[in-house]
Parts: sequence; C-alpha cells; structure tokens
Amino acid sequence: MSLTLHDHETHQLDPADLINFDALLSAPELALRAKVRTFVDEAIKPNIAGWYADAVFPLEIVPEMAKLGLLGMHLKGYGCAGATAVEYGIAGSELEAGDSGLRTFVSVQGSLAMSAIYKHGSEEQKSEWLPKMAAGQAIGCFGLTEPTAGSDPSAMKTFARRDGDDWVINGTKRWIGLANVAQVAVIWAQTDEGIRGFVVPTQTSGFKATPIEQKLSMRASIQCEIELTDVRLPATAVLPNVVGLKGPFSCLNEARYGIIWGAMGAARDAFEDALAYSQQRLQFDKPLAGYQMTQQKLVDMALEINKGYLLALHIGRMKDAGTLDLHQISVGKLNNCREAIKIAREARTILGGNGITLDYSPLRHANNLESVRTYEGTDEVHTLILGNKLTGVPAFR
Ligand SMILES: Cc1cc2nc3c(=O)[nH]c(=O)nc-3n(C[C@H](O)[C@H](O)[C@H](O)COP(=O)(O)OP(=O)(O)OC[C@H]3O[C@@H](n4cnc5c(N)ncnc54)[C@H](O)[C@@H]3O)c2cc1C
Repeated sequence: MSLTLHDHETHQLDPADLINFDALLSAPELALRAKVRTFVDEAIKPNIAGWYADAVFPLEIVPEMAKLGLLGMHLKGYGCAGATAVEYGIAGSELEAGDSGLRTFVSVQGSLAMSAIYKHGSEEQKSEWLPKMAAGQAIGCFGLTEPTAGSDPSAMKTFARRDGDDWVINGTKRWIGLANVAQVAVIWAQTDEGIRGFVVPTQTSGFKATPIEQKLSMRASIQCEIELTDVRLPATAVLPNVVGLKGPFSCLNEARYGIIWGAMGAARDAFEDALAYSQQRLQFDKPLAGYQMTQQKLVDMALEINKGYLLALHIGRMKDAGTLDLHQISVGKLNNCREAIKIAREARTILGGNGITLDYSPLRHANNLESVRTYEGTDEVHTLILGNKLTGVPAFR
C-alpha cells in the first residue's frame, strides 16, 4: 500500500505545535494570540514584501497597533493595557511572525521609551507622554548606543552639563530606532553625577536624526544616527528616579524578554513557509516533503520551535510570578535568537532559488534576525553573562 502525503496524520495537527503547547495557555491568552495573528495576516503579511523592498516603516499601522492595545502593553495605567508578561510575549511573537521590524517598533515604543519614563520618570513626565504613546499619537525612541559605545555602554561620550537650572547635551547616538519619526527621545548621557536619562522632545533645537540607509536587515524599520548639538533642556527633563546604567538596563531587560518570544515567531513563520512549499514542490516526480532529508530539516526545525516556545513561556510565567532572575533572560534571548536564525536559514534551503526572493519569508526573517541577535545584547554578551553566572568569573574585559 502506498502512503500519500495526504494520508499523513500530521495534517491534522498545527505543524508548529507538536506537543500541545496550546494546552499551557489560558483562554484569554489564546484569544489575544488569535486577535494579533488576524491583524498580522490582514495588515502586515500582504504588504511586508513591498515595505521591505522599499525600506519603508509603515507609520499608518501605528494607530491600528494602538487600538489593539499593543503599545506599552505590559504597563499599568496611563492608557496602557496592563497585560501580563506572557500576554506581551505572545503578542510580540505574532508580530514578529509578520516581520521583526514591526515587533521592534512595539519593543522600542513600549519596552524601551515608555518603560524608561514609566519606571524612572516624574509624575509630570508620565502624564505628559505615556497616554499619547499608548494611543499611538506620539512615537518614542531610546538613545543609548553610540558610534564608539555598543556592547559597552559605559563608554558613552554623550555628556549633559548643568547650566544654571538647565541641562545642555552634546554627543552622537547611533542605531536609534524610529528617531526621525519620534516626537520624544529618551537620551542617556554622562553627567557629573553618573549616567542619567533625559526626556527630549525631538523638536528641541540641536536635535537631528538621520536614518541609516542601505541596510540588509530590518528594512521595514528605521534606525538613525542622532546628533545632539547644544540641546538645551529644562531641569524637569531629567528622569529623576535613577542614576547609572541600571536605568537603561532595566528597560533593556524588558526588551530582551520580548525577543525571547519574538524570535520564535519569525522562526515559526519561516518553518511554515518551508513546510507548505515542500508539500507542493515536485522534484524527481514527488513532493520535496516526501524526501527523508527534507523531513529531517523540518523535524529539526519543529523541535527547536517547540522547545523555544516552552522556554519563552516558562520565562514569562516566572516574570509574571516575580521569580525571574536576570540571567534567565539571557538564557532565553541567546537560545531563541540562535535557534531562530538557524531555522530561518534552513527553511530557505527548502525553497531553493525561490527562497532568495521576497515572495517567501525565510531569508527576510534570517536577515532580520541578524539584527535581533545583535541588539539588546549580542550572542557574545549574553554568553559572557551566562559564563559569569556559571563560573563566578566575569570575562567582559
Ligand atoms: C536594527 C538595530 C536596532 C537597534 N536599535 C537600537 C535602539 O533603538 N537604541 C539603542 O540605543 N541601540 C540600538 N541598537 C544598537 C545595538 O544595541 C548595538 O548594535 C549592540 O549593542 C552592539 O553594539 P555594536 O553594534 O556597537 O557592536 P560592538 O559592541 O562593537 O560588537 C561587535 C562584535 O564584538 C563582540 N564583542 C563586543 N564586546 C565583546 C567582548 N567583551 N567579548 C567578546 N566579544 C565582544 C560583539 O558581541 C559583536 O559580535 C540597534 C542595533 C540594530 C542593528
């Protein structure tokens, strides 16, 4: 008896969920996932190839994301949705199945810019900016990295000096997401008291953001170089409640957590594209899916996707319970980025030549994941964090 592909039992399953992962999610979590997935299917997937090819960030979908409660989603009050960490992760994963650039926008807005104001800002700063940012009426950016200070932000040169009651900032920031379309920038700078954060309206004289062009990754997303030339701010612009690198790091940890989920969304989408293609594409008289080597690739991808989601959920549940240790975020970020990029590249091989076009998602995801594994702590930085945890010996310098 010959067994055709259509008789195969995996056709009854969600191919990206071999372990009934969904049984671990609550009804509201499943409903949220369905809602964001529908948005991605309708508003992002039909357009992403064009946005990516043209290097366009689709500002027009920001209000739609706000309507879905995705901006500052995990924050409470000020018009934010007050979602759990797991809900935030689920939404990020669905967005990144559309494109990493869209999840990155939500991350820069919510986990970085809004989080900085929420965690470290004055009541006036929170009331002025958070409701507008949650509603998508104001876009925020987060300026930490500099041309000569990346993995080691303590080397930043941007300096804010006191001038009477005012602050005057000079310096250059690089790779700052959304800076040329943002209304507000959270800028981290050296001061005589240590590193401090400043809430800078981007219309302030001396603030100039220029997009970085000719990118091969994150093309449906914007990153800029910011020049700060005698940017004069009132005393009220400083984030009053934090001094030192723990300020930006507290925000980076939120964003790093989101990536644990996001990377698996990109991997899942790449896998699904490759699986579907393998079932239709005939070579040597049968579907690619019918060859053992193709099945090996698909099975290896599915196993890592299932494990990656389990890890994300476990870390998310610990975050919600308040029991998460910071090094555990590094476990998730390092593992899930590393596996996601492998999956996206392997998925591309199944697509053959067609896989190098924007008609299919895997190479676009793989290229985006080059950025995802680089920002919010590179693979090497997270390895050093975990190496330190295991051995007790810091090896950063
Ligand atoms: C798409 C994108 C969006 C971004 N968005 C933002 C943003 O919104 N705001 C912001 O502030 N920044 C942003 N960044 C910057 C990002 O955080 C930095 O790129 C990242 O921290 C790495 O810094 P770097 O690029 O200067 O690389 P470097 O720090 O120069 O590192 C280069 C290489 O050296 C390795 N390395 C560095 N130190 C060590 C060490 N001690 N041991 C071993 N290896 C080491 C790194 O792992 C890496 O492989 C973004 C970057 C990208 C690509």
